[in-house]
Amino acid sequence: MLQTIRIEEKILGKNEELALRNRQRFDSSGIFAITLSGSPGGGKTSLLECAIPKLQLFLRVGVVEGDIETDQDGRRIAALGCPVTQIVTAGTCHLDAGMVGRALNEMPMDDLDLLFIENVGNLVCPASYSLGEHALVVVISTTEGEDKPLKYPAMFRKADAMVLNKLDLSPYVNVDPAAVEAYARRVRPGLPSFRTSCITWLGIEEWVAWILELRHAWMLEKKHP
Ligand code: MG
Ligand code: ZN
Repeated sequence: MLQTIRIEEKILGKNEELALRNRQRFDSSGIFAITLSGSPGGGKTSLLECAIPKLQLFLRVGVVEGDIETDQDGRRIAALGCPVTQIVTAGTCHLDAGMVGRALNEMPMDDLDLLFIENVGNLVCPASYSLGEHALVVVISTTEGEDKPLKYPAMFRKADAMVLNKLDLSPYVNVDPAAVEAYARRVRPGLPSFRTSCITWLGIEEWVAWILELRHAWMLEKKHP
């Protein structure tokens, strides 16, 4: 057991080093990077499909897509006219900083202002692997029930915001959005959260505004450290 723990620490240590390298690449290219993490089917790709056309009015947006198999999500994002690199992990249930670093080699880094990294659908181990992003958004949907923040606290503790998606379905699945938010804030006090629906477009403008504000604050900080 002790042996196993030591090996994991070594791997995670290496990941931290590569994450730092990714962060330096983002910073030197003036790219604000946001990771989306959440369960499969929570609507991460759909949220990007809603938000990216609005963000493209102001910023040059790129996406790194992570999936265990297929480039289906990558194709959906490419259809929005933004550069996208699809990572197919072939079984691995999370992205690591090394995979993202290799994907960045394929991205037009000098022609981007904002990069989304969509992690493999999983609420567990992506919390352990920093990718070098500036902000982490955890995406869950009403169809997952109310208690996910309590059951998967690591992800919520690390997150900079929560998006609670599929709000249009909440009456049908008997989920109270306020209960999900209360659980999330029990785990991570003050966590900003957004109620969204990709069907009714609820909350998309607010989430986009938050992203723009966050990037703006980062730009100011860079100029006046
Ligand atoms: Mg997806
Ligand atoms: Zn994993």
